[in-house]
Amino acid sequence: MDKEFLNKQKLKVTITPEIIQSSPTIKCECGGMVFTEKLVFKKMSALLSPSGQEEMFPLNAMVCDSCHKVPSIFDPNNMFPPELKADGHIFLQDYEVKV
Ligand SMILES: [Zn+2]
Repeated sequence: MDKEFLNKQKLKVTITPEIIQSSPTIKCECGGMVFTEKLVFKKMSALLSPSGQEEMFPLNAMVCDSCHKVPSIFDPNNMFPPELKADGHIFLQDYEVKV
């Protein structure tokens, strides 16, 4: 198979309304299905930073519009703090509330 043939094959795969209808919708743990992209900033210590200086770096976070948390499907590497995670815990003073 030559490259031109492979490129033509790729072009034949088009996303139709039927494909979209039969694909599962990504859901938050709360059932929410609409998300907004936000930024979370992490602070990297001078010891770990490649520049040798304290650095701040942004992480893109997909936040659920219903519960305002990050569903675990959008945090596979567990990079967000537990209080931001949909399957995490909210700490209210001395009370721990499972969400
Ligand atoms: Zn949610």
